[in-house]
Amino acid sequence: MALTGLQINKLLPGTNCKECGSNTCLAFAMKLAARKAELAECPYASEEAHRVLGEATEPPVRSVPFGPNKSLIAGEETVLYRHEKTFVRPTIIALHIFEEDDDIIFEKKLQAAMNYSYERVGETFQIDCIALSCNVNFDAFINRTEKIWKQSSKPVILKCDNLDTIRVVSEKIAGSGSILCCNVKNCDAMVEIAIKYDFAIAITADTHDELFEKAKELREKGFMRLFLQFPTNSLSEQFQMNTIVRSAAIRNGVKPLGFPFLRFIRTGNMLDDTVEAVTEILKYGGIIVLPDYDPALLASLFTLRLNIFTDPQKPIQVEPNIYSIGEPNRKSPVFVTTNFSLTYFVVSGEIENSGTSAYLVVPECEGMSVLTAWAAGKFTAAKIAGFIKEQNVGDLVDKKRLIIPGYVAQLSGELADELPGWEVLVGPQDASDMESFVKSRL
Ligand code: SF4
Repeated sequence: MALTGLQINKLLPGTNCKECGSNTCLAFAMKLAARKAELAECPYASEEAHRVLGEATEPPVRSVPFGPNKSLIAGEETVLYRHEKTFVRPTIIALHIFEEDDDIIFEKKLQAAMNYSYERVGETFQIDCIALSCNVNFDAFINRTEKIWKQSSKPVILKCDNLDTIRVVSEKIAGSGSILCCNVKNCDAMVEIAIKYDFAIAITADTHDELFEKAKELREKGFMRLFLQFPTNSLSEQFQMNTIVRSAAIRNGVKPLGFPFLRFIRTGNMLDDTVEAVTEILKYGGIIVLPDYDPALLASLFTLRLNIFTDPQKPIQVEPNIYSIGEPNRKSPVFVTTNFSLTYFVVSGEIENSGTSAYLVVPECEGMSVLTAWAAGKFTAAKIAGFIKEQNVGDLVDKKRLIIPGYVAQLSGELADELPGWEVLVGPQDASDMESFVKSRL
């Protein structure tokens, strides 16, 4: 829970020496409470102050880094609903290779996990880790794990209760920052291995109480690289459990529950698998492990994830710039649109699909779509013309033709006045009509 300025003041030396830049310790405490200063600015702050303030400022759902060089992070969430601020760490998507998968399927899944790439609105998504499970054939498990790490450099989620095997395999993939799955019974030994190799653990139990107690114990011992796997028997229970646990961590500050979740998806039914995966993305999943490689499902899940894990206060935007579509030359037309990512990618895609090469002028519009930017005064004739002049767009083409979005046709007269020598054409309202516009007007 956040501390107030008065509570923080009690932890400070009270000498008012001003070395932190504030006139009094209380003024400094107020700045700390408002997160406008760092405790390190007070050279006399006690260890106790550092400890208490450190705990008070940690996010209610702890950040759990893992992977090589701790390149992946789960958790670090501070709100229950995205509109309260933003969700921070997108649900990590992993692919499960089962013990019963034969060598051909193993190879196919490994290659798929390594090569899968999905691009949307300028962002590229990939499968971030691979899970491997084993109950019987430990030698094959060791060999496969080693192969996964060597070939993909991705962390492995290891699901195997045989401690000797886990010790051997952990040695072989040291440096991978992998995750060991365990239950409350073998947890202590797994934690020892995890500490030795700098791995995280994902703990489960037969009951929720047992899981809570073990998480509490590990937390008190200082082991924080922890994922929680709550046992549930139905979709509704999964939904309720994730919501209750996250709410307890964020609203009530229940620290043993303030860790990200890991969930293996396998219902035996593709539709149910999809619903489970969607539920995890919508409701606080830290890592989901998919049972099969299905590029269509992955594309849907990554798109959903993108929608949930974007900051609602910051529209996704592209850099204001002059973009080349195809191979424009001095005869090419010049289109203009806003820097809202979705608008940019739809318009640029449709220009490309029309078969023409062109320049696409994208002025700063604070990531708003065409009509919103126009209504907010960010996409006006003066601003568009100013950007075109500033960027010397006229020097790129001999025939100066500027195509504006059909939704802002009313800007055409003003733009013609602002840009002498340019012919201003009103383009289609809907980008999907771009091809017919290009063919009939250019
Ligand atoms: S440096 Fe520390 S002791 Fe000095 S005024 Fe600031 S908070 Fe108080």
